[in-house]
Amino acid sequence: MGQKTYIPYKTRIIVTFVSMFFLFAGTVTVYQYQREKETKILSIENTLCQYSDIIFNHLNKNNDYTYVDSLVELFPVENLRVTVIDLSGKVLFDNAVRDVKELDNHGSRPEILSAKSNTKGYNIRKSATTGKEYFYFAKNYENLFVRSSLIYNIPVINQLKVDTLFILITAIIFIVFLIIALFVADKLGDSILVLKNFAINAKNNKEQQSTIIDKLPNDELGVIAQEIITLYSDINKAKNILSIEREKLNNHFQYSSKGIAIFNEKRENIFVNPLFIQYINIILTKSNVVSEDIFKSKIFKGVIGFVDKKLTDNSKGKIYNYNENIEGNGKYFEINASVFFDKSFEISIADITKDEKRRILKHEITGNIAHELKTPVTIVKGYLETITENKDLESEQSDYFLSRSIEQINRLVDIINEISIISKLEEAPNHYEIEELNLNEILNNIKIYLGVKLDKKNIILHINLFEGVIITGNKTLIHSIFQNLIDNSIKYAGENTTIEINTYLEDDTHYYFSYRDNGPGIPEEHIQRIFERFYRVSKGRSRSTGGSGLGLSIVKNAVQFHKGVINAKIHKNGGLEFVFSLGKKSDRVNKL
Ligand code: ADP
Repeated sequence: MGQKTYIPYKTRIIVTFVSMFFLFAGTVTVYQYQREKETKILSIENTLCQYSDIIFNHLNKNNDYTYVDSLVELFPVENLRVTVIDLSGKVLFDNAVRDVKELDNHGSRPEILSAKSNTKGYNIRKSATTGKEYFYFAKNYENLFVRSSLIYNIPVINQLKVDTLFILITAIIFIVFLIIALFVADKLGDSILVLKNFAINAKNNKEQQSTIIDKLPNDELGVIAQEIITLYSDINKAKNILSIEREKLNNHFQYSSKGIAIFNEKRENIFVNPLFIQYINIILTKSNVVSEDIFKSKIFKGVIGFVDKKLTDNSKGKIYNYNENIEGNGKYFEINASVFFDKSFEISIADITKDEKRRILKHEITGNIAHELKTPVTIVKGYLETITENKDLESEQSDYFLSRSIEQINRLVDIINEISIISKLEEAPNHYEIEELNLNEILNNIKIYLGVKLDKKNIILHINLFEGVIITGNKTLIHSIFQNLIDNSIKYAGENTTIEINTYLEDDTHYYFSYRDNGPGIPEEHIQRIFERFYRVSKGRSRSTGGSGLGLSIVKNAVQFHKGVINAKIHKNGGLEFVFSLGKKSDRVNKL
């Protein structure tokens, strides 16, 4: 919108004041001027009237014009013209004219006409007779008019001139008043000007000086201006705080671990963060989605039903919250909705897959652990009870029971150790120490460590690694990978078998390994599940071999910890084969 043109406040005050002053002073001056002029004319009239009276008295007594000239010379004025006119207007005498018969009738002269009706009359004009300008004064003496006239020259003009001192004083007063008016207008205008500049600056978003308040005059307008400025700066501060908070909130939304979308009453999107789109993408299994798509999907019918209900609900001033968990595309999501009192609403989606899976897993693990622990504990209990209850037991027999008990207890210890490795990998992977590891060295050590077991079953272990396979990883976990695999081969491949461990590829980031034995392997349908916790191909057999079903799960997690991938397959010549990679450099997930 364009700025309207306007007369500044200060100018308006001055113009008003000057106009009022002019009106007032003008009226007074004109009135005074008139009065003074009248007084002065009256004074000349009086003088001339006296002369006319003297001349009339003289004529009345002598009826002789001879001495009129001499009489006129006695008067203290110069160039007094005396004219005697009869009632018909005929000029009987004129001291300025030799032959009065030449003069025309003076009956229609303004001063004579005036004297006819008012006894006296005056007029200022040029004389048709002498050609000079006169101040004529005529008086009616019933039988004749005596006209005394003065040449309208400088002295007479000066005498008639109104006293200019009055005008001068008026002018001085005007100037003084004008200065006062200017000062007052200036004072009044100051507050308004400061306020005006402040408003313009505020509109243009310019930085306001903090000294602005000091400049305000100490009057009502100043106080009003100050109040406005203070109010404005308070609003501005609040606005700034609000925009910072908004920025923070926005940032929080953008980088939130939840997908968040806010809609208005008409279900139009006001705000949406990228994660929200990503999540509904996953849930709706569509590649191109917009936030409003949730209103069309049956998967969200729970939350949308809630929102619909609360939007039509009349009760106001409350925030309604909703919560549900949904499953989509193999993942779990927690949906939250809040309907606000202005009928806008927020829907947030959190990926709880990890938590949910962990919850399910924990549930399973707890059950499994209890189950797994029960067997060895029951066996140990049985043996120990047999020993204590049968006092006359042969020492050979009791030794046998004791050694079986120790076996079971070792099994228990193994299970507990495996469980603790898994839970550490799950819960606190960054607690594992990272160091440089020479895999050839580690494998040779394992070979020595398991040497007795291998020999017992006549299993040959071939280790064919590249020269200098060095990775940065965790020693215990790398140990677990190979030891578990070899242990399994010892347990399941059977006697007179061969194990081969090879590195078959190396790239910038990984080493690629194959591990296989030439045992019986496992039926194809179990391949996908052998990495699951507590999964055993043959329960009975595992019981007898002492397996807990946790070994391969540890292997998989340990490989993943080292940024690798593991897969199992049946080798074409029989036997189980594992193909896996290990990252050359594994950082801790989070630095402690
Ligand atoms: P366990 O503690 O039972 O050995 P694992 O997770 O290590 O558990 O192994 C899971 C199942 O996979 C085992 O019960 C076994 O049936 C099968 N398995 C593992 N390694 C081999 C192998 N080398 N040969 C045949 N079967 C194997």
